[in-house]
Amino acid sequence: MEDKNQKNYEKALDSYRLKGKRKCRRCGNAKGLIRKYSLYICRRCFREIGDEIGFHKYH
Ligand SMILES: [Zn+2]
Repeated sequence: MEDKNQKNYEKALDSYRLKGKRKCRRCGNAKGLIRKYSLYICRRCFREIGDEIGFHKYH
């Protein structure tokens, strides 16, 4: 029974991570968050890591 509860808990956490996240996954800032392409990073971080992840065309 405990094992099942644990799985449900993890499932809930997963769905929270997938649907409920409204903060930059890099710095935690919620301002200017880019949810396009499921990036979930703020504009500031985007400028910093955009090159690395191949979005260098974006300005
Ligand atoms: Zn950020």
